[in-house]
Amino acid sequence: MKINFIAKTILSFAKGAIVQPLETVEVSLDCAVCQKLYRTVIIHKDVGETKCAGHSFPAMIKLIENNKKIWKSFFMKEEMREFIYHVEYEYTEFEDSRDGTGYDRRASHEFPSWGRISFLVTCPKCKSIQRFFTQNNIVRPFIGICGQCSYQLYTDNKEQPLFEKEES
Ligand SMILES: [Zn+2]
Ligand SMILES: [Zn+2]
Repeated sequence: MKINFIAKTILSFAKGAIVQPLETVEVSLDCAVCQKLYRTVIIHKDVGETKCAGHSFPAMIKLIENNKKIWKSFFMKEEMREFIYHVEYEYTEFEDSRDGTGYDRRASHEFPSWGRISFLVTCPKCKSIQRFFTQNNIVRPFIGICGQCSYQLYTDNKEQPLFEKEES
């Protein structure tokens, strides 16, 4: 069956920063093709490019909502920005038959258990472009700093990306 979900992140960027989310999203999911739990898969817009450990994986990004400003005030030094990745993939229930994996379960789940969203930021001060990411298991609050001029580019305060089920 087809599973549709969104992976969503909200970050607070320095005013004037130009932000471009990458056209891939990295997730840990249970792969029904090779029947293994917790596979890290980089999902692309083109279904043919998405792979799990060497085999092709039926998943794709349908849409990326980019640079949506959710709140802005003249007096604020920062702008909240939201990126939403809409993803579809093929899933069927299975049990991971391997012994000694150390996992907390054998039965598969239909949703990702972890994710990483990467993006490019153009520093408003020195104009250099650098790549950053947010993921579920980093120490927060995390502050993104420009590697060229040390300007504070963004803050990452809460557990994300968030995953939500979506109707297809
Ligand atoms: Zn697989
Ligand atoms: Zn800079």
